[in-house]
Amino acid sequence: MTDPLSQHPAPQPRDAQSRDAQPRDAQPRDAQPRGEVDRDTLVRWLDEYLGTGSYADLSLNGLQIEGTGVIRRVAASVDTSVKTLQSAADSGADLLLVHHGLFWGQPLALRGPHRTRVRTALMADLNLYAAHLPLDAHPEVGNNAMIARALSLGNLQPFGEAAGRQIGLAGELPFAQSLQDFADRVQKLTGEICLVHGGGIPQVQRLGVLSGSGAGAVAEAAALGLDTLLTGEPEHKHFHDAFEYGVNVVFAGHYETEVFGVRALAARLEEEFGLPWQFLHHPTGL
Ligand SMILES: [Zn+2]
Repeated sequence: MTDPLSQHPAPQPRDAQSRDAQPRDAQPRDAQPRGEVDRDTLVRWLDEYLGTGSYADLSLNGLQIEGTGVIRRVAASVDTSVKTLQSAADSGADLLLVHHGLFWGQPLALRGPHRTRVRTALMADLNLYAAHLPLDAHPEVGNNAMIARALSLGNLQPFGEAAGRQIGLAGELPFAQSLQDFADRVQKLTGEICLVHGGGIPQVQRLGVLSGSGAGAVAEAAALGLDTLLTGEPEHKHFHDAFEYGVNVVFAGHYETEVFGVRALAARLEEEFGLPWQFLHHPTGL
């Protein structure tokens, strides 16, 4: 299928990106026809492919809610909410892949909206699989790898510490461009306006990419000699960092920097198992 990045800037038609399975070979996988896969087989594949168990992440990564035993259709979304779960159920998906799941390191009673979310999934027999840091960091389908590829970033090195690991990427653009041109380019990629804190030199070339909440990575960017940090969401307490460390920070949106991973992962599942998929676009504007 086409690169999901190329589809991303169009803000409207993203809800309707269902893909028909297009088997690339006639070999059955584990005696199952392409276009369907046993849930436990799929979960094992995802856990292994993403290295799900190897991150000290607050997110309970992996299968968070067990639904139907056979997966024929996949939905992907950044967040888990009643809306995304219901949209997934309405689309006929057997599995919803998300970046932000329902469980974050605390025991949580099944009351109020949390109960409604869980109930929505259970009533639809929908599986919910969450991949947080593993999907920021993954070298093929990770949010940061996908953004770095879209910007043709070269000489890549690990960057952006989270939970004891580097989940982002630093690298060099093929040519220097003005901060404004760079922000425009990012805006074309995400379809949303960026917030720019121009604390560094007016040319962008050495870039750090850290999807989501990366505002705290300015000191690390400065220590690596990067001129610009591209991240998702600003944080007030880090406002002065950009100007005092002398690093530009381009905030492209927490949501908008994290659409890439789930989309690429769903596309990867299509490639591997022939499962049709759909991206459920529920932007937060943050
Ligand atoms: Zn996030």
